[in-house]
Amino acid sequence: MKAEGATRVDTKHNLWERLFNWGGLLAIHLGALVAFVFYRPRLVDVLICVAFYWARMFAITAGYHRYFSHRAYKTGRVFQFLLGLLGTTSTQKGPLWWAAIHRRHHRESDKPTDVHSPVQHGFFHSHIGWVLASDHEEYDPSEVKDLWKFPELRWLDRFHVVPVLAVIALAAVFGGARGVLWWYCASTAVLMHCTFFINSMAHVWGHRRFDTTDDSRNNFWLALITMGEGWHNNPHRFMQTANQGFYWWQVDASYYLLRALAFVGVTWDLKKPPARILEEGLRGKPAPYVRIDEVVERAGQKARAAAAEVVAGLAHPADAE
Ligand SMILES: [Zn+2]
Ligand SMILES: [Zn+2]
Repeated sequence: MKAEGATRVDTKHNLWERLFNWGGLLAIHLGALVAFVFYRPRLVDVLICVAFYWARMFAITAGYHRYFSHRAYKTGRVFQFLLGLLGTTSTQKGPLWWAAIHRRHHRESDKPTDVHSPVQHGFFHSHIGWVLASDHEEYDPSEVKDLWKFPELRWLDRFHVVPVLAVIALAAVFGGARGVLWWYCASTAVLMHCTFFINSMAHVWGHRRFDTTDDSRNNFWLALITMGEGWHNNPHRFMQTANQGFYWWQVDASYYLLRALAFVGVTWDLKKPPARILEEGLRGKPAPYVRIDEVVERAGQKARAAAAEVVAGLAHPADAE
């Protein structure tokens, strides 16, 4: 399949995809619940659950987000594949789908067409509703032309369920039911919600350092649990950056790891925001929470909808005659 605008990757009508969305999400949450209520964890279960959480959080933030979506640094083809592979075990689909959807989010952020905007579609939809709705199963390969050229990434994207099943099988072999429930289900459920908080909470709760054209926020607590992704207002101002925490006091664990990997030559060319952006963020002028341009735009939409209704009403009597 070529990476052309006309070609869409259609997974909407694929039975496995639908089962993966609904059945998978339900099973993971049920599994986590059963683990918490009925299976007292051993020390090894807690250690693996926590380690697997942080490893995959790194694959999502440093891999799916900063690398695949924003190309904020460079790496070799092997490490690129490993990031994608670990990312797929997070059970958030493949790297190409994720990057295509996320690039759209930056373009249309908090506008009516935004895939997951709490401002437009409510908190629940922005958090998990949009995943269950299956409206966004399809993506346009031309959104991710730069990634589409790697056949191994296309394979990973298409068969993203395979690494997930492999992890579950390994957990079952080495840990039995306790392994599946704690190492995979509990760890994955928490990982999912912490990732989804960036789409929902980080557009509602926190401080706006930059007056961006959306409602993105910076939030210290979210940054702690997501290895730096909580500084969400920053990349909405300047997205191609390896560090989401723009300033030294904005803790960003993924960036520290990327720096360590750069030190040993695994990653390189880590991009950072230019000085003018950093200065802009330091001016200290609190950015408005509700922007006038958005208010005007929404008023315009309402007026257009009302006008369309009036026009439709005028047309009916004539039609009836
Ligand atoms: Zn956002
Ligand atoms: Zn982004």
